[in-house]
Amino acid sequence: MKGGSSYTWQSILAGLDCFKLGYIWRVGDGTQIKIWEDNWIPGSHNMKVQTRRGNNLVSTVDELINPVDASWDVDLVRSIFEHIDANRILQIPITTGREDCVARHYNRNGLFSVWRNLWKLQVPGKIKIFGWRALRGVMPCKAILANRHVIPEGGCPVCHNGAEDIKHLIFKCDRARAVWRSIGVWEKIRHLLEANRSGSIVLEEVIHRGEQVQGLELGLAELILTRGWFLWWERRQLTHGQTVQLPSRSGLSVVSLTKNYKMAGKKGAKLRQGWRKPAEGYLMLNIDASYDEDRGCGSTGAIIRDGSGGMIAASNTSIPYLEDAPMAEAFALRIDASSIYWR
Ligand SMILES: [Zn+2]
Repeated sequence: MKGGSSYTWQSILAGLDCFKLGYIWRVGDGTQIKIWEDNWIPGSHNMKVQTRRGNNLVSTVDELINPVDASWDVDLVRSIFEHIDANRILQIPITTGREDCVARHYNRNGLFSVWRNLWKLQVPGKIKIFGWRALRGVMPCKAILANRHVIPEGGCPVCHNGAEDIKHLIFKCDRARAVWRSIGVWEKIRHLLEANRSGSIVLEEVIHRGEQVQGLELGLAELILTRGWFLWWERRQLTHGQTVQLPSRSGLSVVSLTKNYKMAGKKGAKLRQGWRKPAEGYLMLNIDASYDEDRGCGSTGAIIRDGSGGMIAASNTSIPYLEDAPMAEAFALRIDASSIYWR
């Protein structure tokens, strides 16, 4: 902790240590998830089923899945579980063609800390938003869309090799691997890709570690996110029948792109170390936002101070509908800039 940090900021940092991030199984083929012991029920307070096991013979989740069309066996689920469990189970998407994997189950505070780390990276806003979606598993990958019955099957359109989820898109796709090999970080990534970890967890780990890539003078997280975003863009080109660069060329493009962003971010920018008062004759506006994931709403705050640090004006707004935390920050800028009354 640096001297001179504000009381509020110290409280926020102290809170970060207490954040507890839970884990939850995401259902693939269901063979590895134990129905009665494992955390796999979203919406349940301990992420487990609430129904007592009794004399039930079923033990793993695959026994609840209809093997013909990989959907829940509705009659079986309703006959085994109490109403509340049955409803929760039947809402869980099944990702076909993939093993079960463990994912983070974010609470509000956990999301906040992940978001803070992501926002510190030296990449453009569009790439942070890409990262945010990947972390939260809300990318429109084919496997995810197939789950929601938007498109019939979830194979990768680029390498035709495995389900196209976030892990595949960023890390495991043949094309992604080729790029990682060409810039010498594949071994590092391979270590991170232990079995049963979702792409989101691997990504979060990379961001959390803040590792630098030797020889490139770039953060691994920046590189991976820029690359992931770039592959996303290339994929659109490919599916529209256009040609894209060879993976080795593409790898170099990503390194130079990431470097450019880093340099652009550095130009004239100084690292903020706590709040500093503005120069004589100037006012300073500081904003912040909160986001309540459970209720999908948020609030923003703003304060204007003068050269002596004295408060000139403050504002506080609540926003009834929000998609995520970055939107809350955006609202903080928009609403507060227009709702401030000058003295
Ligand atoms: Zn692929």
